[in-house]
Amino acid sequence: MPKTAVYPGSFDPITNGHLDIIKRGLRIFDKIIVLIGYNPDKTSLFTVDERAELIRSAVGNNPRIEVDSYSGLLVEYVRNSEACCILRGLRAMSDFEYEFQLALMNRRFDRNVETVFLMTGSKWFYCNSRIIKEAASLGGSVKGMVPDIVLQKLKEKFPSMENNNQIPR
Ligand code: ADP
Repeated sequence: MPKTAVYPGSFDPITNGHLDIIKRGLRIFDKIIVLIGYNPDKTSLFTVDERAELIRSAVGNNPRIEVDSYSGLLVEYVRNSEACCILRGLRAMSDFEYEFQLALMNRRFDRNVETVFLMTGSKWFYCNSRIIKEAASLGGSVKGMVPDIVLQKLKEKFPSMENNNQIPR
């Protein structure tokens, strides 16, 4: 039986930190389903279709990676997809408390579904979608923090980024 993990998140948009977790997750799992979890009542910068398209472009054509979206209970999705695990990334201590609660809640819903955590790569410690969107909306450069295709789409949304390609030192 191939070992499949579901990697859930909002991916609004996908960052190099997410890609690092996916790449390293593939050393442990045979297949990873990148699952865009969405709440129709919440506003996002990119639509679910745009986010899925950006993830597909960023990961390239890899038969071991699937991209899907879901708005229901995560453990139900995991069960139906015959995955064994939920894959999550941990950055700072600030992630820890929330991730801990989420993992315990999911475990309460289904004891057979384990959550596996990977520590962030040191380069991506402070890389998160919210900060990237904030910086981009103010015209700040996020080059090097997101895949090139995401950078291009952010520039379309925030034209003031256009002339700022510097990688901050
Ligand atoms: P964000 O927190 O950036 O908005 P998501 O909600 O899409 O991103 O996060 C999905 C998962 O990816 C979470 O487990 C989150 O901790 C993890 N993750 C996000 N960014 C990073 C990063 N830079 N390094 C490691 N894990 C990350």
